Amino acid sequence: MGDYDRIRREVLDSSRWLAEHGYLGQLSSGGNISTRVPGEKSIAITPSGRTYFSLDLNDICIIDFDQNPIEGSLAPSIEAGMHIGVYRNRPDVNAVIHTHQPFASTLSIINKPIPALFDEITVEIGHEVDIVPYAFSGSRELIDNLTGKLGNDCHCYLIQNHGAISLGADMPRAMRNSELLESVARIYYQALATGADIQKLPASAIDYFADRRKLRFK
Ligand SMILES: [Zn+2]
Repeated sequence: MGDYDRIRREVLDSSRWLAEHGYLGQLSSGGNISTRVPGEKSIAITPSGRTYFSLDLNDICIIDFDQNPIEGSLAPSIEAGMHIGVYRNRPDVNAVIHTHQPFASTLSIINKPIPALFDEITVEIGHEVDIVPYAFSGSRELIDNLTGKLGNDCHCYLIQNHGAISLGADMPRAMRNSELLESVARIYYQALATGADIQKLPASAIDYFADRRKLRFK
């Protein structure tokens, strides 16, 4: 096995699960997945413009933080800069999942951050799922818009008129956060559709869970 086979396998298997479950396209290539190469300033990331079920292990790109290729012959995702922006600014993050998952994307077009609504979500994702302002895919502006939000220490963000990005200390936790985000986005959307007032968690609960997050993630 090559040096990068384990993390390539993790990226490939995760991208296929996400495509099978409606987070990424099955016949299209929307979204992108990456993981940090342990101990290096480099990442493993899905390639640009290829459907996930057509990929082999060696199609997962290994690139450094300046996007120079290390291994792999395909071009990396055009969103590679956005992933690297996360790794440069959040040492607690080792896996990044960008999706076009339906309910999170729904909230991204009505430009509504998701407030603290449930205990589990607030512990795992944070006190808010904030909105990253719109910019073209792959642009410097979009990277700056995202990195400008990362200081809130949350693990999920909505990207305006685009989709979602979920972070994790490792790939299983990034995957779980992506799934939790879709769950809370669906519930929040359904609650908004009733027109009734939304009951948010009390401030004392948000403070309590913020302390638990500090113990867990620092
Ligand atoms: Zn996208």
